[in-house]
Amino acid sequence: MAVRRTAAGRRPGALLGAVAILLAACGRSGASQAGGTVHRTVPLGGSVQGRPISAVELGDPRAARRVLVVGCLHGDEPAGAAVADALAAGPRPAHADLWIVPVLNPDGMAAGTRGNAHGVDLNRNFPSGWRRIGAQGSAHHPGAAPLSEPESAAAARFVRRVRPTVAIWFHQHLAVVDGSQGPKDVERRFARDAGLPLRSLPDYPGSATGWENTIVGGSAFVVELPGGRPSPEAVRRYVSAVRRVTGN
Ligand SMILES: [Zn+2]
Repeated sequence: MAVRRTAAGRRPGALLGAVAILLAACGRSGASQAGGTVHRTVPLGGSVQGRPISAVELGDPRAARRVLVVGCLHGDEPAGAAVADALAAGPRPAHADLWIVPVLNPDGMAAGTRGNAHGVDLNRNFPSGWRRIGAQGSAHHPGAAPLSEPESAAAARFVRRVRPTVAIWFHQHLAVVDGSQGPKDVERRFARDAGLPLRSLPDYPGSATGWENTIVGGSAFVVELPGGRPSPEAVRRYVSAVRRVTGN
């Protein structure tokens, strides 16, 4: 299906613009190297409505520390995408391979909906503990089957390939770092640096982090940013907290 160019579709357009600038800056391959580090954009797949889903790789591809940041999984929770975009525009980590997926649910972001264009809550569509918990039309509809959606399937392929040693999945609006599944020391430090409390949230069936932790144990955690649009100062604080995770 063609990508709709509506006022609400500014985000994918902005992302494409950023990718185009990156490609122009980096040459035809979309990659540039300096001191063994890279800054390149890698296509991961597409959404139900055909919007591209991409990752930006920043840093040393050979580094043992592989950090994944997913900015926006629920389309009505866009704050993390601003953090991801700022990270992607920043310097390359010298001692980590940083992977940034600004928007995993571009259709939901364009429409301002939690779910994707099928009305599926992508954070209930992953294989670990997947259950039929919400009917079609409900906020937590898990899809017809695990990874039935192109967005979650693209994320799963990517995670299996990269096997991030730390993964941060941004959400909104609880203003808390979920200290229940990921690396405890990283969660604690991230919470302190980000100025958010550390608290354990429930482990939802079919969640992305729950599944990712079956691929690389104790690696993935959720950061619930506050509601609304983050101030430039807040974005800088979250970016700096992620950069501490990469060792920079
Ligand atoms: Zn969310």
